[in-house]
Order: sequence, then structure tokens, then C-alpha cells
Amino acid sequence: MSTDNTVTANTAAASESGSALGPFSLERGLQALREEMDAPTAAFFSSCVHCGLCAQSCPFFVETGDPKYTPIHKLEPLRRLWEQEFTLWGKLKARLGFSQPIDDALLEEWEPLLYDSCSMCGRCSLVCPVGNDIQAMVRKTREGMVASGHSPEGLIAASVRAVNTGSPMGLQWKTLDVQIGHVESASGLTVPIDQAGADYLVLLSSMEIINFPEYLEAIAKIFAHAGVSWTLSKDCFEATNAGVQIGSKDIAAVLVRRVVDAAVKLGVKNVISPECGHAYTGIRWEGPNVIGQRYPFKVFHIIEVLDQLRADGRLRTEGMETDRLSMHDPCNLARKSGVIDEQRNLMKLVAEDFVDMKEHGKYQWCCGAGGGVSSNERAEELKMAAFRRKKAQIEEIRPDRLVTMCATCRTQLEEGLEEYTMDIPVVGLTEMIAEHLVEDAPPTAAAPVKEGAPS
Ligand code: SF4
Ligand code: SF4
Repeated sequence: MSTDNTVTANTAAASESGSALGPFSLERGLQALREEMDAPTAAFFSSCVHCGLCAQSCPFFVETGDPKYTPIHKLEPLRRLWEQEFTLWGKLKARLGFSQPIDDALLEEWEPLLYDSCSMCGRCSLVCPVGNDIQAMVRKTREGMVASGHSPEGLIAASVRAVNTGSPMGLQWKTLDVQIGHVESASGLTVPIDQAGADYLVLLSSMEIINFPEYLEAIAKIFAHAGVSWTLSKDCFEATNAGVQIGSKDIAAVLVRRVVDAAVKLGVKNVISPECGHAYTGIRWEGPNVIGQRYPFKVFHIIEVLDQLRADGRLRTEGMETDRLSMHDPCNLARKSGVIDEQRNLMKLVAEDFVDMKEHGKYQWCCGAGGGVSSNERAEELKMAAFRRKKAQIEEIRPDRLVTMCATCRTQLEEGLEEYTMDIPVVGLTEMIAEHLVEDAPPTAAAPVKEGAPS
């Protein structure tokens, strides 16, 4: 498809979402890049010593060996704008005609590098010797890519659906309502809906509702067991943020605002992100920045809440898993948010033969599907190539099963293991904890939310 046709098709798709996405134009894209230019960005490009360490940390480079997947190389549109408009030498070069313009052809060429070959995993940022946050620069560059119409069709469609229907998969409350009915009849429990004044507003992800409905039942069981006051909201059940993935602060703000409005309307003290990595970093870290406002509530990942219940003695479990278990740490949870010990504390409750991968926690390798790669059909082959790093890690320790706590990672692990004919089931940690609860134990008294608890 030609550049013009791509931008036209993307503009048509975006116009369905109203003004939050599009109209796309090169000038809007360049302006978006200019607006991302701040002191850290300028320092970034002038401090890079071209050591190549970021390449060795990137699963897309390591598994393909293709130099175009070197993390710093993915930032060329942003680097070129910085050089041409913010440095004396670059301005001179541009005036003398010694530098290439940033045009639609360049942005089209870089679109697969910025989206298909970057899961925003942050491993490159961790190893850069001069402290350059490369994945943050990828996020910034995507702002220009979106505004100029050079984003993957799958991500544009997901953003349009998220804005128009509340879910990137177009899932409606009535579908969730059916799931709630199944959970209630299977568990004999009531799933609270729109309970004003509840301690916790529980968010879900559409992928979880469709692919892993057992998560909601697990939550219902655990919270009944521990006497937790919680609720779902009919106004907003979706935790994921397509704006964060495509790289649009405007879309991200629309979606964060929905969560905030629902939480404020119900007067909850806390909001729980489900087993989804980017949903958590989106609502917890990016959210207050994109809406320019502090929240009147705290935000937790479900694993943080479960570990706090464990620490408070409110999770009474019985029996242990006896097979060899290992864990995949979602990048957004472990590397970007420092949630590493919590999931291991929970594993100790229920698993007697747990083994960590050699590089885990902060240094774990990405599964290859984050950062919108899983919503981008064009990236399928690269996504599976990046998975080979995780596959190699799994082969080193040969577990019987894997545990994780992100629906996107879980789906990618299942698909990758099947692709490489490795018969290793993948389980969600929340679900595993629910399976070990002492049955018929009276609920513990609901403890007030602790000062100093993670927020
Ligand atoms: S690791 Fe840092 S300094 Fe080295 S090439 Fe990458 S961005 Fe540049
Ligand atoms: S964030 Fe991850 S996938 Fe993206 S360039 Fe860095 S190491 Fe590669």
C-alpha cells in the first residue's frame, strides 16, 4: 500500500473515533514530535556513546540479529527532528541540504521498527550505561507516528473501539454480565456491581474476560474468603489502555478519565488493575500525568493486593502444588514497577517446587507481545521470533508448568509454547491462589486499607 493510501485509510478509521485520533497529517506528526522534545530527550541523543549494549538486551535484535532492530536505531525520526531543529550543527546541515527531511516515506519505513519490533519492555533502558530511557523515547516517538497516520491498522482499530465502546475488543457490559452470571452460578457467590463506598473497584481486561473467565471467579472467591469489600462498575470495567499502546496521550487521557470518573462516582478508596501489565502502568504511572491530576484513590495490581492479604493473614490456603513451577514476570509489573517479591511470596504459599529462570524479576526477558505487538497482525512473525528468547530461558530450567500474571503474556506464552511444540501449561497466579483457599472458612474481618500500602 502506498504511503498516501495508508494515511488515508488510517484517517478514515480514526475519524470513527471523533477528534481523539486524527485527522492524520505529516505536519501534525512533526508537531507532536516537537512537543515531545524536552531536556531528557535532548540529553539522550547527545549522550549516546553508541556502545550497542541496548541491542544485546533487546529480544527483537538478539533473536533476529538484524541491526535495524537495535533499540537506538528505532528512534531515528525523533533523533532527526532533534538534530535538524534543536542543534546548531543540524540546522546548518539542513540549510546546506546535507540532511534528509523527515517525510511520510521515512515514517512509513520506521513504522514497523517502532511498533512491530518493540514491545516497550524497557530492558534496553535498564542496561544503557549513560542512563538513556530508550523505551520512553519509543513511547515519545509513537506520538508523532500516530499523529502522522503511521501506526498499525490493528492498533488504530483497537483505539477506535476503545474510545467508542469502552473496550479495545468491542466488548460490551452485556457480555461481561453473562460471564458474571456464570461465575455466580458456579461459585454460589454474588459479584457486587456498582456498590457505592466499596473499598476496591475491580477493573478487568477484555482479553481476560474472553480468554480467561476463570480470573473473575477467582477474584470473587478470594475476596469473599478474605472479607474484602469490592465492586465492579457498569460505567467502566475495562482496565487496558489502547492510547498507551499506540502512543497517543489524547486517547490515553480519554480512557484514564473513564476509570477516574467511575471510581469517583462510586467513592472507592482503591482501584485494582487486573492481571495485565500495561493496564497497570497505564493507570498507575501514566494516568495522573496524561489527565494532569492526582487521583483521590490508590491504584494496585491484583498481585499487590493478594500479597497484602497474605501479609495480613487473610489468605488461608491448604495443599501445595507438587510439580515443578516457574514464573514469567511481566515487564510492566517487574521491571517497570518493581513488583517482584509479591508474586514470589504468593508462590511460597502454594508451590513446593518453584524455580526461577536465571534472568528474572528486573532482568527478565520479555515474552515479545507487549507494547501493542499482540494487537498488530503484521508483527506476528517478529513476535514469535522474539519469543525464542523466552523459550531459551524455559528450556534452561524445564518446568512442568509456568505461572504468570498478565493476560497478554499468558496468551503469548501459550501461543509460543504451542508454536515450538513445548507441552507446558500456563496458569494465572490469581487463579492458582483461589484453588488453594481453605473452603468454608469464615471470612476474616475486613481490615482498613493500610497507610504506606502500595498505591
Ligand atoms: S546502550 Fe545507551 S549509550 Fe549504548 S548505544 Fe544504546 S542508547 Fe546509546
Ligand atoms: S523496549 Fe524492549 S523491545 Fe523495545 S527496543 Fe527496548 S529492549 Fe527492544
